[in-house]
Amino acid sequence: MTDKKKKAEIIGRIFDEYFPDPKPTLIFYSPFTLLTAVVLSAQCTDERVNSATAELFKIADTPEKMAGLSQEDIFKCIYKLGLAKNKAKFLSLMAKQLVENFDGDVPSNFKDLESLSGVGHKTASVVMAQAFGIPAFPVDTHIFRLARRWGLSDGNDVKKVEEDLKELFPSRDWNRRHIQFISFGRRFCKAAGHKPELCPICSLPEFQS
Ligand code: SF4
Repeated sequence: MTDKKKKAEIIGRIFDEYFPDPKPTLIFYSPFTLLTAVVLSAQCTDERVNSATAELFKIADTPEKMAGLSQEDIFKCIYKLGLAKNKAKFLSLMAKQLVENFDGDVPSNFKDLESLSGVGHKTASVVMAQAFGIPAFPVDTHIFRLARRWGLSDGNDVKKVEEDLKELFPSRDWNRRHIQFISFGRRFCKAAGHKPELCPICSLPEFQS
């Protein structure tokens, strides 16, 4: 077994011990509400997004209703979020594309998802995994940092890190591992005052550099 595979197995075991039933923290109740929440989550905490979508979904929880709103109406619900103006524009265009090109359904394939306004590969991956249960491994900045710190990848971009993680973890685990990476970072990787000797992973001999 390679060094990286061994590390991935150890990480998987620790993740399952600390986060046996990981759940997404964005609130959604359909593929469209998930897609909307993920688009809004760029550079924002999930808590802030949930507070904005609590208002937004009262008036627009389907592509048809969102497409019927002006960008200004959308902006009024999400103005507290970073990049709110751009996000309102993306959501308005995205909803119109869904109605016009996909009969109001969120597509369940990467090509069509990534054709939507404001939707990149990471957002599409989250929707594939969490809305449709199709194995995907969205890599955000936190997962990128942890994967490199733990020696699972030396990729210099998220595409390469995603490829490496997909090699190391079985596809049946990808959706769970993605949320566990994020949960681990939130619980243990504090910006200030963290102690590697108290970290359940960095304290292990296999992870000492
Ligand atoms: S908890 Fe600290 S030591 Fe462990 S991975 Fe996060 S930053 Fe590194």
